[in-house]
Amino acid sequence: MSNVVAPDTDAITGLTSAQVEASRADHGRNQFSPLEVPTWFDLVKDAVADPMIKVLLVCAAVALVLAATSGESHELVDGLAIMAAVVVVTGVGVLNQLRAQRDYTALDAVASQERVRVIRDSEVQDIDSDELVYGDVLEVNTGDVLPADAVFIRGSDLLVNEAAITGEPDTAKTIGEDLFGSSRVLDGSGRAVVVAVGDSSVFGAVRREVGERDKTTPLEERLDSLAGTIGKVGTYAAALTFFALIGSGIYRSEVAELGLNTDTLNFVLSALTIAITIVVVAVPEGLPLAVTLSLAYTTRKMANDNALVRELSACETMGAATIVCSDKTGTLTEGLMTLRSATIAGAVVTDLEGLSGAEFGEVYGPLLEAISVNSSADLVERDGETVVAGNSTEGALLRWMREQGIEYRPLRDAATTVARREFNSSRKYMMTAVTTPGSEANTVYLKGAPEIVLGACTHIETPEGVAELDDVDRARIVEDVRAHATMGNRTLGFATGLKPAGTDDDALVVGLTFSALFVISDPIRAEVPAAVERCRGAGVRVMIITGDIKETGAEIGRQAGIVRSDDELVLEGEEFRLMSDDEATAKLRSIVVLARALPDDKKRMVELLQATGDVVAVTGDGVNDAPALVTADVGFAMGSGSKVAREASDIVLVDDNFVSLVKAIRWGRSVFENIRKFLQFQLTVNVAALTTAFLAALLGKGTPLTAVQLLWVNLIMDSLAALALALEPPRDELFDQPPHGRNEPLISTAMWSHVIVLGTFMFVVLQIILNTDWLIATDDTVYRYTFLFNVFVWFQIWNELNCRSVRFYRSPFRGLRDSRSFLAIVALIVVLQVGLIQFGGSVFSTTPLAAREWVLSIVIGATVLIVGALVRLGGRALTSRP
Ligand code: ATP
Repeated sequence: MSNVVAPDTDAITGLTSAQVEASRADHGRNQFSPLEVPTWFDLVKDAVADPMIKVLLVCAAVALVLAATSGESHELVDGLAIMAAVVVVTGVGVLNQLRAQRDYTALDAVASQERVRVIRDSEVQDIDSDELVYGDVLEVNTGDVLPADAVFIRGSDLLVNEAAITGEPDTAKTIGEDLFGSSRVLDGSGRAVVVAVGDSSVFGAVRREVGERDKTTPLEERLDSLAGTIGKVGTYAAALTFFALIGSGIYRSEVAELGLNTDTLNFVLSALTIAITIVVVAVPEGLPLAVTLSLAYTTRKMANDNALVRELSACETMGAATIVCSDKTGTLTEGLMTLRSATIAGAVVTDLEGLSGAEFGEVYGPLLEAISVNSSADLVERDGETVVAGNSTEGALLRWMREQGIEYRPLRDAATTVARREFNSSRKYMMTAVTTPGSEANTVYLKGAPEIVLGACTHIETPEGVAELDDVDRARIVEDVRAHATMGNRTLGFATGLKPAGTDDDALVVGLTFSALFVISDPIRAEVPAAVERCRGAGVRVMIITGDIKETGAEIGRQAGIVRSDDELVLEGEEFRLMSDDEATAKLRSIVVLARALPDDKKRMVELLQATGDVVAVTGDGVNDAPALVTADVGFAMGSGSKVAREASDIVLVDDNFVSLVKAIRWGRSVFENIRKFLQFQLTVNVAALTTAFLAALLGKGTPLTAVQLLWVNLIMDSLAALALALEPPRDELFDQPPHGRNEPLISTAMWSHVIVLGTFMFVVLQIILNTDWLIATDDTVYRYTFLFNVFVWFQIWNELNCRSVRFYRSPFRGLRDSRSFLAIVALIVVLQVGLIQFGGSVFSTTPLAAREWVLSIVIGATVLIVGALVRLGGRALTSRP
């Protein structure tokens, strides 16, 4: 890129609309070509690559060849039916995966959309980063991630992290140097002119090489390994069944003449087909699929709730969160900062609206310049509204100026900046030094937390002129700050001074004159107290970690219902820093507000909480919140926050709102619960199907459940049940229970009890049908086996309902009416089952059943509801309510 010549766009006026059009035509937009995602063809290839499916297809093919040579029609049908069943089973799986993929891709597109500020037609505009063109003048600020390659043309020195491109985590950039797309701006601000967009940028090339990162989540991994274990057990069961079938066949002389003949081959082949089918049934392909579906569905729904999931595993983890460490501004409060009052040059101004034109400019001139120049926020038009791009505290000041009819832009553009320190939560101040017309000295503007600004001052502006700042003044200002903070307001101090050119940055922020104190209010969001209360009910604690002082934090905490009694600790960052880890840990349970917190305090707090077993969710917006966001179990970034914070986060709160975070907890719990439901269902069928097939083979009953029937059961189990159970909507009761812990086993005691008792019950009933005349008396084996198959499927249909509850203390019928997709899928299974029994004869080796057997199948099937209820009752008797 360094050999690319920067276009000579004017840094103040930017491109004109016509130039933007021309550039777009010549160089394109700042868009990246999509990375490869698997197509349906890839997915089908993957599915067919499964060795079991391959073997099944080979078995079916051999059956077809044998049928062709022997001319027996039922073998032909068998072979074709197995092939068709395999196609349907893999087809439905592939469709489900495609659907999940589409959801993710759509969300990724939304998540990667970014707004950037450019100068066009002499105005600051806020556009989508993919609208950026070659030659655009880009505003660069601390916390940005550069959207394209550019050359730095104006502003104070930048500190950027370009680890992704050059491997350099901290590089200082001066005017004229190259900036690479995807680098993070850690400090500084200015303007840069875009020299390469989209695929032609250096980042575009890196992106293509590296590709998408793998997105398997810990839960998926756990399930994969569980699926592996179940698969292994299934394989052993299949091998045993195979040998039992061969052994009992020979013992019973089912094959007329053993040897290399069609009969023997047929015999071995059908045993093999059954054995392989058992493996196919046993291997729960549906498990990972259920997670994929459930996560895709959840991420889509969460996006509707203003939470964009960047890291999939965060959905599950959020359900386990035991504590939320929340920011104050924007998350608990509206984030709509309004100037309330000010003390300007010693005079208290309560009516900030009442200042008018000439007087305003004359008296407040220097202050207005301070507000305009020492700021990196902008007011931009978005959807017909004026909104703040950048820091909202600064936005409040700019907005106030505009309301008084004074524009900040001309003041800012006219100034020549010689030094700057951006605001961040560690410094808690911002400083800009500019050249002074008609003077050798530079003017320094400082604004920040009042006590920090006071610390940099030796003088103070009073109505009588500049005076020395004494202890009485300091005490008065501090008292003033506290008084405003107790009402939940934020305060901001201003100072100014003249410094000789060439003074180094550290010396610029000493010996200044305190000029003003602004009081800014930001009301609490009306819906927050209820959300905090919900968290409390759900066993999730809430802690405020704020950069504001103790009094402001405590008052907002009180209004939100987070601070409720005197036993609760409202701590200053300073006190927290003085505590040893042990001391802090001892107090951890009672801390509800950590005020004047530095980003390091936030990170330490997260680590201490994690060490005591908490699952911690944290919100953050600034560049230096990134370490805390990464350390936390789930990091939430504010949609309005810096891009660096967003990149470090797992979930982005589009509307910054605490309520959206609480909704994420609900979704998280729901994902975990739904997957458990599916798991319980799957394991129960496995136990019943495997034991029945095996025992029948051993007793020489042949194969009561044929390969095609088993494949249908497999379809019900894997794909359809995954859809029905994994997509259940979250219920409010999920908030009535404590969070599941960090290492809670996937399969709980309640679930094991269900699987074992119901699996065994089904097995026993099926044996009764197979071996006795108690439920059905007939000599017609096909009729008996059809009845057996029908009962087996009805067990699963009713048990699917049972599995809506994975807890002793919950009824499976709750919220059934709202679970539309569940009801629809169960209805579909019922319709298909009736169809295949009554009309699927030759394919499914069934024969139509009479009304009595139908009623009986349904009723016997429904007994699993009673057994399920007994399991829950027993469980309740033996355990205490969680
Ligand atoms: P919250 O928890 O409320 O979101 P925060 O952690 O973001 O707060 P900071 O942004 O660190 O808080 O602000 C801490 C203090 O720094 C504020 O009380 C204010 O006095 C000062 N401050 C805030 N914004 C600016 C700014 N843009 N420039 C200078 N000082 C600021």
